[in-house]
Amino acid sequence: MSETQSFEAVPEGDDLVYLAAIQQLVLERSHDLITVTDALGTIVYASPSWEGVLGWSPEALTGEPIAELVHPDDRGAAEAGFVAVLRGSDVAGVTARFRTHDGRWVPIETSGSPIVDERGVVTHLLGTARDVSEREELRDRVHEVDALYRIADAIARAASLEDLFDEAVDTLLDATAADRASVLLYDEDDVMRFVAWRGLSDSYRAAAEGHSPWPADASEPQPVLVSDAQAAGFAPELAGALEQERIGSLAFIPLVHDGRLLGKFMLYLDVPHDWSDRDVRLCGKIANHLASATVRTRARTALRDSREQLETIMRTVDEGIIVQSAAGVVVYANDSAARIIGFENAAEFLAADRLEVLDRFEMLNEDGTALAPEDLPGRRALRGETSERVIRYRIKATGEERWSVVRANAVQDGRRGEAVLAVSVVHDVTESRLVQARLSFLARAGDMLNATLDIEDTLSALASFAVPAFAGHVTVDLYTDGTLECIGARHVDPAKTELMIALRREYPPTVPQHPVQRAIATGKPQFVPDVQAEAESMAHDERHARAIHELGNTSGIVVPLAARGRTFGAITFGTVPPQPPFTEYDFELAVELGRRASIALDNALLYGEAEERARASEALEFVDDGVVLVDRQEIVRLLNPAAARAFGIKPAKALGRTIDDVVRDWQTVRDRIAGAPTPPSGVRRAESLPVTVHGEERWLSISAVPFEGGTVYAFRDMTEERAVEQLKSDFVSTVSHELRTPLAAIYGAALTLQRDDIRLEESQRSGLLGVISSEADRLARIVNDILWASRLDSGQMSVAIESCDAAALARRVADAVRAHAPATVELCVEAAGTLPPAAADPDKLRQVLTNLVDNAVKYSPDGGRVRILLSQAGNRARIRVEDQGLGIPPGEQSRIFEKFFRLDPDLTRGVGGTGLGLYICRELVQRMHGRIWVVSDGRRGSTFTVELPLA
Ligand code: ADP
Repeated sequence: MSETQSFEAVPEGDDLVYLAAIQQLVLERSHDLITVTDALGTIVYASPSWEGVLGWSPEALTGEPIAELVHPDDRGAAEAGFVAVLRGSDVAGVTARFRTHDGRWVPIETSGSPIVDERGVVTHLLGTARDVSEREELRDRVHEVDALYRIADAIARAASLEDLFDEAVDTLLDATAADRASVLLYDEDDVMRFVAWRGLSDSYRAAAEGHSPWPADASEPQPVLVSDAQAAGFAPELAGALEQERIGSLAFIPLVHDGRLLGKFMLYLDVPHDWSDRDVRLCGKIANHLASATVRTRARTALRDSREQLETIMRTVDEGIIVQSAAGVVVYANDSAARIIGFENAAEFLAADRLEVLDRFEMLNEDGTALAPEDLPGRRALRGETSERVIRYRIKATGEERWSVVRANAVQDGRRGEAVLAVSVVHDVTESRLVQARLSFLARAGDMLNATLDIEDTLSALASFAVPAFAGHVTVDLYTDGTLECIGARHVDPAKTELMIALRREYPPTVPQHPVQRAIATGKPQFVPDVQAEAESMAHDERHARAIHELGNTSGIVVPLAARGRTFGAITFGTVPPQPPFTEYDFELAVELGRRASIALDNALLYGEAEERARASEALEFVDDGVVLVDRQEIVRLLNPAAARAFGIKPAKALGRTIDDVVRDWQTVRDRIAGAPTPPSGVRRAESLPVTVHGEERWLSISAVPFEGGTVYAFRDMTEERAVEQLKSDFVSTVSHELRTPLAAIYGAALTLQRDDIRLEESQRSGLLGVISSEADRLARIVNDILWASRLDSGQMSVAIESCDAAALARRVADAVRAHAPATVELCVEAAGTLPPAAADPDKLRQVLTNLVDNAVKYSPDGGRVRILLSQAGNRARIRVEDQGLGIPPGEQSRIFEKFFRLDPDLTRGVGGTGLGLYICRELVQRMHGRIWVVSDGRRGSTFTVELPLA
């Protein structure tokens, strides 16, 4: 009874009884479950079919709430239907699971109708229902098949594992009751990691990652179903994460392939839930599919990766790789191989016709003989011979020749052992061959050039190795006496050699745009790739330009000739058809050649000049004056022994170098001499100049005579003379100054004494007389110093060494000085116990001590103690004069013993002197075989020490 009916109020009478009987019969016999409940859902009638379908006896059901029988998950839907009927509508086709008497769940489809009383109020509900297990089962199956189909499809389509798992997660969500799902796989560290997921937070994934209910080596892992996440007894951390993520129940489905655990599927529900067998079974099936697909995809990816790697290696290696089939067909080539053969890339090479490719080249053996195609290493490898050989091949189109080392191996068929492929590795060695050839060419050139010092021989050597091996012609231009002159040329065509020289003489390369000029001006080699294009710009006039066109040179390279810091000419190489024009590569070679030629030519020139000058310079050997000849480039061409002595160098080292190189300070000379006007005689007046030689100042009196090829300098070293001059002038200025002061005092005192108009007291008179006598004493001492110094200088001083008592002498000196020393100075003599006598001249020793003690007092303007200390130091007598005066800065301590040297020449410290005292002391002490020195920190006090031998 599927159609709905509403029951009207029951009719009365016989008809009614009859009708009721029919009704009863229908109800009793129907397969449908027929049920009547009251408005609260309590069963008031259940048909007998309840017993047959679900095992419940109708009697037992009467009075029970019908909701109790409905599966908790389906109650929502069931209740909604119930309420709709209560409101008076008919409801059809609500499916819900009902519990059987023995506890199973059976899907039941129910339709309901309201039963109303006479007032139209719904008092009861009539339900007719039927077991739809079979239909549901079928639907599930279809669903399952559909899910599996989707997975199979996804596997077929998926480009990567990521896509595959993404699809799998969606399918799982569709096909099961799960709210959320994920896939985890073991990574290389054996940690299960999420690879796809839906509805899971980052923090949950972080917390759950690595968790697995099975050990990694589990042999037959089974699904783990957790109906209540919080009651399952997970580790606290995982349980916390599940709670936070609001996961009520979850299922772990292993992904297994070939007995190996690869990872797992996870299903999650928000509420606790009993996982159905069906869900687990479906997951298991999907998992199986995916596990094998995973393994397959992984293997495919690995294969693709390794093939890519191989491809990349092939692409990047410099070596060419060619694979040929047994029939000799090229089946593989990398880009390098293609490029070596002259193609842009491998694809072009593989597409080209084989015979046509072979026809592009002339194959040669290393020695230049023809090479048969059958002897190529690839062919030989196919015949079972492994071989390696150098192959020379000439590209017919360009004439270019290249060299390769080719090594070939065969790939054999595993079963039959026949060569099926030949792999040739081609290594292009053209560059290194060229470098080798170039090096040996340069070595030969160097040898030839170095073999002679004769300029003519050098030029012809240069010409004969450069033409025709390297160039079609070569020209050398050199400066002679300041003008550029062609000194040699060679052309492949001997008839043109003369023509070239004649043209060069008529039109020297002096136009600024001429490459020779550019090379000389910049000092850099010039490359002219197209001579004809530049003919006009380098020509003097139209006729010259025409001549250049007629000679027909195609390209040129000009290398400046430079040695020892100056450019002295240029060498020009040129190409003449049919020789191909120069390339960048030839440029480098030309520069190298030019460098070698520079040295050879410079040596030859130098040698020639040296020979020429040799005779002239002989006379100069014996002249006391220094003579130096420099050419217009300021290169030293001649230097006599006197000049060498003055500059402290060897003549051989100076020749050929610039004068500035030889004499560092030459700029000073050049400025002064060149700045002076040249007198009509051409000989400039000698100038006295200071020139620093090896860090020492030397005074030179220099005169210069310019001539066409350069300048001759003649000079005399005046350093010694100048020192004497200086001494003389020092002496005059010091002495006159020192004499003037006491003389002025004496003169003043004497004038005062002479005056009649003033009456002088006796004390004043004796005061003035005191001034006269003490100043006269000072004058005497100055004169004394000068006399001592002049005697020492003239060598007239004789010393008479005898045994003398230094202590007694010191006491006498102290007494004498004390007589005129200021009261603020305290003077004492201290001698250590018994002092053996010294070997000295007593007169001279007194002079020394007097000077030292005088100084000690004089340079203690604020007073203090002056001590004379005598002691024995080994086999010497030691006398020290110690003061507390001004002190002597350490830097000046050696200079104070020089003649006239004074620390304070301008008397700012108010103490006068001649600067002779210490000079005399040192000279005297040295003549008595003793030593004298001073110690002072430069701030306060000095100690002079004299040591003399013991008698
Ligand atoms: P002078 O006639 O100027 O004293 P000396 O040859 O005796 O000449 O001394 C040279 C210089 O040495 C002096 O000008 C002075 O500057 C310095 N000098 C010599 N003795 C002393 C000393 N005891 N203390 C400080 N300076 C001294």
